[in-house]
Amino acid sequence: MAVGRTRAIWEGNRSMTLHYATICKGCWQQMHMPIPLRGALSVPFRAFGIRPSRMNPNICTICETMFERRMKARTVTLDATILFADLRAYTKLSQSMSTTEMGGLLDAFYDQCAVAIWRHDGLLNKTIGDAVMAVFNFPIRRGDHTRQAVLAAREMQRSFGAEHPELAASLAGTGIQVGIGVGIHTGEISFGEFGHAHRDLTAIGTVVNTASRAQSAAKAGQILVTRAVYDRARSVLSASTAGEYQLKGFDEPIELYTA
Ligand SMILES: [Zn+2]
Repeated sequence: MAVGRTRAIWEGNRSMTLHYATICKGCWQQMHMPIPLRGALSVPFRAFGIRPSRMNPNICTICETMFERRMKARTVTLDATILFADLRAYTKLSQSMSTTEMGGLLDAFYDQCAVAIWRHDGLLNKTIGDAVMAVFNFPIRRGDHTRQAVLAAREMQRSFGAEHPELAASLAGTGIQVGIGVGIHTGEISFGEFGHAHRDLTAIGTVVNTASRAQSAAKAGQILVTRAVYDRARSVLSASTAGEYQLKGFDEPIELYTA
């Protein structure tokens, strides 16, 4: 089977062009202080442990610490956009690929999602199995966070699609189709540390659940957004088509829009 080539293909495409910020977006937004994250100017800062955060490489480690302290102290309610992206056919693939190959595929998927999320100032909040969850408008504030989430989703689909021809070729004859399904919803969320046995820093609320359900309704290669997202990001959704979907956990069918 040609599936063995998949890892090499994905690995080969991982040298992505990254456009990260040269100064910390958090410090600039909060204090108008230009804290260098990259380049020669960042060297003295690194000596003091100030470097790009692993949560979002466009903010610094001080911002990350402040953010974590604030979150431990209390729960924040805010207007945000939630995006879920899921690697479709992952379970099917796992029957024909080795554990190492699957690991490589999943790493590449996470990397591509992270790059798209960060480029649009989102926070990669969680990776759950073969899915990722992102929050937009926190901690980096963006007045147009809903539109940024839609653009990030499209970028994920584009970067996946760019590799898809080779991946699809390597899977020819297996009957397996790979792709990403994305769901987006926007509104009020609560962000904080939840759970007793295992404290977990995350967003909760009906907005999060609805985004997750919209994602499960999306086909491979599809982005489905709610009416609230459509209303806020109409400038980039002119080609959108609406449909009624019966989502798990909802009594009435809800209207979702393609993006
Ligand atoms: Zn900072």
